[in-house]
Amino acid sequence: MKNTSGYDVIIIGAGPAGLSFARLLADTPLNIALIEKSSLDDLKDPGEDGREIALTHLSEKLMKQLGAWDRIDPDFIAPIKRAKVLNGDSSYALDFTRPSNDMEALGYLIPNHLIRKAFYEEVAQMKNAEILTDTTVVDVHTDDQSGTVTLSTGEKLSAPLIISADSRFSETRRKMGVGAHMQDFSRTAIVCRMEHEYPHEETAFECFQYGKTIALLPMNGNVSSVVITMSSQKADAILNMDEDQFNAQVQAWFGNKLGKISLVGKRHSYPLVAVHADKFVARRYAAMGDAAVGMHPVTAHGFNLGIRGADTLASEIKYALANGKDIGSLDVLKKYEHKHMRVTRFLYHGTNNIVGLFTNETLPAKVARKAVLRIANNFPPVRQLIVNKLTETEGQAASGLTGLLPPLPDLSRLPKPPKLPSLSALPARLFVNR
Ligand SMILES: Cc1cc2nc3c(=O)[nH]c(=O)nc-3n(C[C@H](O)[C@H](O)[C@H](O)COP(=O)(O)OP(=O)(O)OC[C@H]3O[C@@H](n4cnc5c(N)ncnc54)[C@H](O)[C@@H]3O)c2cc1C
Repeated sequence: MKNTSGYDVIIIGAGPAGLSFARLLADTPLNIALIEKSSLDDLKDPGEDGREIALTHLSEKLMKQLGAWDRIDPDFIAPIKRAKVLNGDSSYALDFTRPSNDMEALGYLIPNHLIRKAFYEEVAQMKNAEILTDTTVVDVHTDDQSGTVTLSTGEKLSAPLIISADSRFSETRRKMGVGAHMQDFSRTAIVCRMEHEYPHEETAFECFQYGKTIALLPMNGNVSSVVITMSSQKADAILNMDEDQFNAQVQAWFGNKLGKISLVGKRHSYPLVAVHADKFVARRYAAMGDAAVGMHPVTAHGFNLGIRGADTLASEIKYALANGKDIGSLDVLKKYEHKHMRVTRFLYHGTNNIVGLFTNETLPAKVARKAVLRIANNFPPVRQLIVNKLTETEGQAASGLTGLLPPLPDLSRLPKPPKLPSLSALPARLFVNR
């Protein structure tokens, strides 16, 4: 077996997180290896996977800085100007619009495969990065001096720093002995594009109905990304439904408000499992992207947090380089962990709780759901906080689409609303997670 050194950073996984992290290190003298189990063709031209990614302003800024934004055809960048959350069968909506005229939109929607393609093209032209495709990392080990990965080819590669960016089900994080909180919601998200008769007016809808959640994310033209989440048992029937029947069913779920609706392309499905690693770093090792925090897909947080974490770690590495420090040392990595944990931990548990509340169909939960929406609508500081989180402006944490929902843990920091019930006073059992 060959033991090849010469790399400074080895990144396992060339998904959006691994690629954006590599790109963030383009202006450093570091030699980077990205190891990816998919083929080169898949990276160059990834297939459409049904995920339309709602991006915050911070992600937009980072993507612009890194050149990825300009690689995406503007026809596929759709502004979200308004967002509404509906609860049960009530027509009462939590309603957000962009906070000021200088802000074009609350956020932007871009297909995941185009984000991956854009970052691949950026990394492919880096002089200090090499991508090994059709190669799986089968083992990883670190000691005080360096880390070593074993490839499916039998080859071993070493570097002072190893990064796991190999998805929420990261095998390499597990091999490094890093545990994770994992929550299986026993639900499935069905995602697809649908064309409709009437315009969506650049408005995103999240409808927490009883038994299922339906979200509509506006794309350019009279087309939207539709996200249906329901129990995995029921999801199979919807996935296998004949196309005309499916169209009629979705049309009915939207109360015919969009007129005639028809499927464009395929239906895709994803299991709803959320993951938060117990720690993000170990000796000469860091986890990032979904390998660090894999949010509930319906929250639309995942990539926003992934690129934010990549930026945090890259900044610490650059600072270490500028100060002659070892980039793989634990004190450098711990700074990343500390900063990123601060952003992700509350958000992860807070959104899992809120998803739990909005999918809990007991009577007290239904009452609490109504109260949450009314408080968020009628109490200006809460509205402002949510909009800040939604857009990721003013240094707030990413909040993506369930940023449409009030972020529970932060409410305690707000000035007291007169006579409105404090959310923390709601019975804990309401927040039973599914
Ligand atoms: C339906 C849906 C909607 C979503 N909507 C949004 C949204 O609106 N906004 C948002 O911000 N996020 C959203 N997300 C989340 C977002 O898609 C993820 O957070 C993001 O793709 C994670 O990127 P990643 O690079 O960490 O992981 P992945 O995309 O999972 O990539 C991991 C890569 O590692 C490779 N790999 C795995 N194991 C190995 C190995 N052992 N060796 C080599 N390579 C390996 C894989 O082939 C893959 O290329 C959504 C997710 C879903 C499912």
